[in-house]
Amino acid sequence: MEYNIVVGCGFSGAVIANLIADKLNQKVIIIDKKNHIAGNSYDYRDKNNIMIHKYGSHIFHTNNEKVWSFLKRFSDFNNYIHKVDVVIDGKKVQIPFNFNTLYQLFSETTAKKIKEKLLEKYNYGAKIPILEFQKQNDEDLKFLAKYVYEKIFLNYTIKQWELKPNEIDKTITSRVPLCLDNDNRYFQDKYQGIPINGYTNLIEKIINHPNIKVVLNSDYKNFKKQNSELIKNSRIFYTGSIDEFFDYEYGMLPYRSLKFEFEEHNKEFYQSCACINYPNDFSFTRIHEFKYYLGDKSNKTMIAKEYPQKFKFEENERYYPIINEENIKLYNKYLKKAENFKNIYFLGRLGDYKYYNMDLAVLRAIELFEAIKFNVI
Ligand code: FAD
Ligand code: UDP
Repeated sequence: MEYNIVVGCGFSGAVIANLIADKLNQKVIIIDKKNHIAGNSYDYRDKNNIMIHKYGSHIFHTNNEKVWSFLKRFSDFNNYIHKVDVVIDGKKVQIPFNFNTLYQLFSETTAKKIKEKLLEKYNYGAKIPILEFQKQNDEDLKFLAKYVYEKIFLNYTIKQWELKPNEIDKTITSRVPLCLDNDNRYFQDKYQGIPINGYTNLIEKIINHPNIKVVLNSDYKNFKKQNSELIKNSRIFYTGSIDEFFDYEYGMLPYRSLKFEFEEHNKEFYQSCACINYPNDFSFTRIHEFKYYLGDKSNKTMIAKEYPQKFKFEENERYYPIINEENIKLYNKYLKKAENFKNIYFLGRLGDYKYYNMDLAVLRAIELFEAIKFNVI
């Protein structure tokens, strides 16, 4: 019998485990150092029966048919559409910045003039990353570019990354482009929603297979010590951080972390939508209110204020890889080393050191499964 050890029970680990167990009829042991499944997507119902996203709001969205049809086998999704507000000079407006935001912030005359100039230069519906949008010749568009950069992106990015927008990988700020339309959705993907019984339940369904065994509270290092023979004869799918796997031989891969401060409020709603961003005020970046995601009914509500932090080893969680040339070089050194190890595969946000959304973590697991020649053990 061939064995497969999957390290980590987030989306990446759960999906690869399911495919191996189901399509190859092989045994899989999933270990996770946390005391729960579902990794960063973990959610639970609190005493008010509100579904809380422990590691920050998670909204599923994808354009990928393969990912969508895979996940739909395990759970239905509701039709929640994520909308986010941003507070600028005390006023709550729409983000991504679109024509509605323009009219919310400026007088009718100014907004109309700027809209016309935007549509002379770009097509209706264009999505323009903020850094690209800085390149303007027209005075009014220059004004708008500076305004959006300074009021929405500059201070939020400094809080989040301790870097200015032009000092981080441009794909990151491009996640929230200026949208030359009136579409108030934060994500424009074809499929979006929240699994109707939550993410933990969805992951539970994915790993619910007679060939899969899950061991929680189990760090790979300890598991390996106690099961050295098993490890030698198994394939390893590692969704933890690749530098940790190699004992930080070349140094530590940097990450950003977060701290969530949860507050219960004795009212039905705390704010007008699930997420409000505060680029310029406070030291947190945003406030999440969880009951919006599944439409939970309670006369109380739970919110979380999100405070960005440096990742500190063994003090907090790795949340965001810090993508830059130097860190990619370091990651590639580990990847190169990994090539010498037969039957060890790295995947996931930490294993690949990539800013994956959930759908891309799922896709990566599916594609890795499809790429592996499974007769190599
Ligand atoms: P993880 O979920 O991090 O799972 C990795 C697992 O491996 C963890 O459970 C960890 O405990 C375990 N592990 C690590 N090392 C070891 C070890 N040595 N031994 C044993 N176990 C180990 N995506 C979206 O699509 N929509 C969103 O709205 C969204 N919001 C996000 C908000 C925040 C604040 C963050 C940080 C991410 C968000 N994401 C979102 C991304 C999403 O969380 C990831 O795409 C997803 O969690 C990736 O799954 P994964 O399995 O690769 O990693
Ligand atoms: N961003 C910003 N202001 C905002 C929202 C986003 O400056 O109000 C920038 C910031 O650099 C952030 C990036 O855009 O890290 C991506 O935002 P997203 O909402 O996708 O972040 P995530 O939900 O992944 O933390």
